[in-house]
Amino acid sequence: MKQICVVGVGYVGLVTAACFADLGNRVVALDVDDKRVENLKKGIMPIYEPGLEELVKRNTKAGRLSFTTSYADALKGAEYAFIAVGTPSGVDGNADLKYVESAAKSIAENMTAPLVIINKSTVPIGTGDWVADIVKKAQPKPMDFAVVSCPEFLREGSAIGDFMSPHRNVIGSLDRDAADKVAQLHLPLRAPIVITDLRTAEMIKYASNAFLAAKISFINELADMCEAVGADVKEVAAGMGYDARIGRHFLDAGLGWGGSCFPKDVQALAYMAKERGLEPRILNEVMNINYGRRKEVTNHVKHMLGGDLTGKIIGLFGLAFKPNTDDMRDAPSIDIAADLIAAGAKVRGYDPVSMEVARPMLPEVDLCKDPYEVAKDADAVIVVTEWNEFKQVDLEKIKDSMKSPVVYDGRNIYDPTVMREMGFNYRAIGRGNHNN
Ligand code: NAD
Repeated sequence: MKQICVVGVGYVGLVTAACFADLGNRVVALDVDDKRVENLKKGIMPIYEPGLEELVKRNTKAGRLSFTTSYADALKGAEYAFIAVGTPSGVDGNADLKYVESAAKSIAENMTAPLVIINKSTVPIGTGDWVADIVKKAQPKPMDFAVVSCPEFLREGSAIGDFMSPHRNVIGSLDRDAADKVAQLHLPLRAPIVITDLRTAEMIKYASNAFLAAKISFINELADMCEAVGADVKEVAAGMGYDARIGRHFLDAGLGWGGSCFPKDVQALAYMAKERGLEPRILNEVMNINYGRRKEVTNHVKHMLGGDLTGKIIGLFGLAFKPNTDDMRDAPSIDIAADLIAAGAKVRGYDPVSMEVARPMLPEVDLCKDPYEVAKDADAVIVVTEWNEFKQVDLEKIKDSMKSPVVYDGRNIYDPTVMREMGFNYRAIGRGNHNN
């Protein structure tokens, strides 16, 4: 049993804390947000993540997991301190490190014994060295510590499974003993462990996210070509995916990526390249293609409704940036709703879990209680997020209640042939053999 402090109880920190506790460690999770901590003490989760509430409650009850706002309490007896605070985009596209800086200072001011400080946040290359400098300067009296990079690869919506069964754990440090100590913590996960230097570990995280984002932008570019030449991008992706060199994952054409990671990470990597006099040509195009997807939606729907959206009622199926999360950060629904409203439409929406998070972010969108209320008297429905709930919806009921049965399926969840046979005016993404 190791004693661990986790700083930040958001999507990454809370999952990290709960999972390490479940592996038998004693974990104190800390956040500067009093309300979050108070709620967690009462068993109220700050985020939606499948299985998280049960995991947190079980480990809290067993006495392995606790929550605090006090760095002194969280660091008492800790051998490891994970930093899992946000690193949002700054004004210039680089990652804003103010939360990392403040966490590093607070750790330095409150540590009372040698400590391994492990950075889980996604941070620009070189941040580990910078954190070491901050800690050294902020310590009231010199005390041994090491900084290790251990980037997180979990996905919201399947975070616990991803943490517990990772493809790999990456551990970066110039201090071999510290790296070995962090490797020990991860041994129960029985995954490959890549031990490397700090900067390489930091780069592996950005490179992985940028590559996955590029895969999605690639298939989206192909989707447009498929539409133009009369091919079906879903089958193209399936056919490509059987090739082990390519793989099927991240080849779903649609409205593109969003969320709290890909947008800011691709942007930050491009920024780092430019800062060093390099031209990030691929990354720039990956971003252009992605944000172009959102812009096209209004034109397509306008075209399907005869060229004018003034006064038209458009319903959105799904608001979160992807299924199984309530995360609305850089969700395509935000841009799509804004464009539709600017074109004169009235917009409604429904999401199975993100309604409370969405409300302040989409003040001009009428939020409905279910997909049927969204569709009632609507001129068109747009599938924005591929929640299972929409796949199994009663399409007959939807069609009968709509003013005009127009569906723009931004996530290719329905069968074009079935939709047409049912009498929908249906358009999907990259399904050129069906769209004509
Ligand atoms: P988040 O915004 O959900 O949570 C961050 C938490 O840190 C918040 O609760 C905030 O109150 C707290 N915090 C901020 N400053 C603090 C401080 N000085 N001391 C203590 N707590 C502080 O963020 P997240 O989505 O969990 O992301 C955290 C990091 O992990 C980011 O760098 C992100 O890029 C990376 N990451 C995120 C994901 C994901 O799916 N969300 C996946 C992999 C990596």
